Amino acid sequence: MSKIIATAAIRGAQALVKEADEILEKTITEKGKDFKFEFPDTAYFLPMIYAMTAFKVETLEDMRVGLGYAKETLHEIPDEKLWRPYLGETLDSGMASLFAEEIILACRYVQGLEPIKDEEYGFEYNGFISDTIQRNLGIQLVDGSMPGFAAIIGAAPDDDTAVKIVREIQEKNILTFLSGNVEGNSVARQLHRKGVEMGWDARIVPLGPDTRHTLYALDWAIRASLIFGSVAPGDFKKHLMYQKDRVFAFAMVLGPLDDIIWTTGAGAINMGFPAMGDTDIPVIHPTGVCTYEHVDKELDHDIIVQRTIEMRGLKITVEKPPIPTAYGPAFEGERIRKDDMFIEFGGQRTPAFELVNMKELEEIDDEKVEIVGDWKAAYEAGGKMPLGLVIDVAGRKMQKDFESVIERKIHHFINEAQGLWHMGQRDMNWVRINNNAKKDGITLEHIGIIFTTMLKHSFKSIIDKVQVTIYVNEEDVNKEIENARAVYKERDQRLGAMVDETVDTFYSCLLCQSFAPAHVCVVTPERLGLCGAFNWLDCKAAFEIDPTGGNQPIEKGELTDDRFGRYAGVDKYLMETTGGQVETLNLYTIMENPMTSCGCFECIIALVPEANGVMIVQRGYTGETPAGMKFSTLAGSVGGGTQNPGFMGIGRNFITSHKFLSGDGGIKRIVWMTQNLKESLKEEFDKRAGEEGVANLLDMIADETVCEDSEKLMEHLTKVGHPALEMDSIL
Ligand code: SF4
Ligand code: ZN
Repeated sequence: MSKIIATAAIRGAQALVKEADEILEKTITEKGKDFKFEFPDTAYFLPMIYAMTAFKVETLEDMRVGLGYAKETLHEIPDEKLWRPYLGETLDSGMASLFAEEIILACRYVQGLEPIKDEEYGFEYNGFISDTIQRNLGIQLVDGSMPGFAAIIGAAPDDDTAVKIVREIQEKNILTFLSGNVEGNSVARQLHRKGVEMGWDARIVPLGPDTRHTLYALDWAIRASLIFGSVAPGDFKKHLMYQKDRVFAFAMVLGPLDDIIWTTGAGAINMGFPAMGDTDIPVIHPTGVCTYEHVDKELDHDIIVQRTIEMRGLKITVEKPPIPTAYGPAFEGERIRKDDMFIEFGGQRTPAFELVNMKELEEIDDEKVEIVGDWKAAYEAGGKMPLGLVIDVAGRKMQKDFESVIERKIHHFINEAQGLWHMGQRDMNWVRINNNAKKDGITLEHIGIIFTTMLKHSFKSIIDKVQVTIYVNEEDVNKEIENARAVYKERDQRLGAMVDETVDTFYSCLLCQSFAPAHVCVVTPERLGLCGAFNWLDCKAAFEIDPTGGNQPIEKGELTDDRFGRYAGVDKYLMETTGGQVETLNLYTIMENPMTSCGCFECIIALVPEANGVMIVQRGYTGETPAGMKFSTLAGSVGGGTQNPGFMGIGRNFITSHKFLSGDGGIKRIVWMTQNLKESLKEEFDKRAGEEGVANLLDMIADETVCEDSEKLMEHLTKVGHPALEMDSIL
């Protein structure tokens, strides 16, 4: 362990604490010590200080207290002769630096200096990362589609190297944060110059142009243990262990290191996040804090990404179809504007549809892609074209019910190809190919190849053979679309008839246990997982694909409470899989032993006792609610895998299920719901409300345009005669 590193980390911490002191006192002089501050859209105050010490920084005066903790952990640079080869001082200094940086950035927010806009280049940095984004990403973190996080600090030696490194990380589906600079140059600017798209969809997020902005990434990481891990604030050991074991982050430092980089890096090492440099720096080899090396160097930019990933102990295998463009989830969010578009299909412009059919094994010519009719000239001309995409699959363990599960994957599989874009489903789909992809050589055949490759990869154990037929003549498409519509209709009828009572088996989803160890989603035909990503059929298919995976069958057993939905088999299963933390569960109520919540719920239901009903708010809504809390605050008290009567995370589509709080009186209990939810669910909701005998229920339910507090809510409910007021007491 190098003396140089310890000295730099200690010196850096001293400098940052001094800087924090100065900016804080200046801010207090301007705004007064009682000035209230919170980072945008978070329920976790200054997250690093909160997680480590449990201290809630709510005002500028509180920041003085927070900075006090940093001062306590500062060290003097030790005497050469007293030097001991141990990391303690380096780690302490690193943590002090993170506290100081958090306060510096908070003060900069107070002064309106964050997030930063790069005026010269005309792009914006992200700044602080909100709880909403964290929760949005929750599912990708647990299902392995986002295996890790890279923080790149500094600038590559040249623009092309920057692009190369970032693309390589992107293709491994890792999320990249950018911060810092080398004499004004930075990876963010390098990418911008090269026209590389940045942002959350592209999985490249520029945080800010200074090393200090790296803290935003660490603030994000530390909230994983608060939000999903339910680790108590102040239990710093557990937080740090959680980070090391479950948050696969690492840093890459491009260019020379100064004291601030060293000390910030030392802070990250506390969390088990190692750093790789591309210059000749001193290194720290294994000593037990990180999984492997703590600090290492790799001067060869061709292998630096691979070496860094290995250093963090990540094993990543990526399956890519043989097509001439890049492929992976990082390209999923890419949009294709009209000017960039080469050709489009569907989207109300041409007839189009997509359909997955189950066939017998012998009916399929494996991996065959057939395009019916003479298509080449029409394709080469660009513009628009009809498209009928029929995917026939067969496999010994394939079931008719899985057709829809596989069909929904079409969207992801097309979008993951760089330069291809997909929206909608069934006979409402819309596909675009951009000019670059066309230049790279993408043809209609490649669309078929994507499926013959990726379906067999993703559904290994249920699909043995795939054949794709593509129709492009208007006449053919119009004919085939009728057949497809008949299939959709029959499928919907079959699914609609499937209710909790008609099956013997529910499914668990344990995916979020990697972040929220006590959480289990119990997924039934009428209740989807709370992230919205898994319904009962998805779980069933996932179990067939991987019998030892995250979705397990639950024999539902005897119905011991038919009003609240308690099943003996479910209770037994939960006892076993939560280590006794959940002893019993009621599926159809929010009031008594309701489902636990991990952290990635689409919506939260909260009791509004004075209205004798509940309110529902979706992730991403930042306004106030009649429960007296914003989504972020509500979410903070719901997550982490505990049962919280009166509060529950749910998937959006559960709202229109017959089993939605059926033990509490069902949808008539909803007294307030955001406009966004009202609009997006309208059709289904009105249907359900009609069945309950209150066809105009949606109009009686208040939203943010009516009120954001309970007093006005009560006035409104009384005025419109909302049914909840007449119902039995919910308490
Ligand atoms: Fe997590 Fe539940 Fe979604 Fe599974 S269904 S990923 S456990 S939220
Ligand atoms: Zn979850």
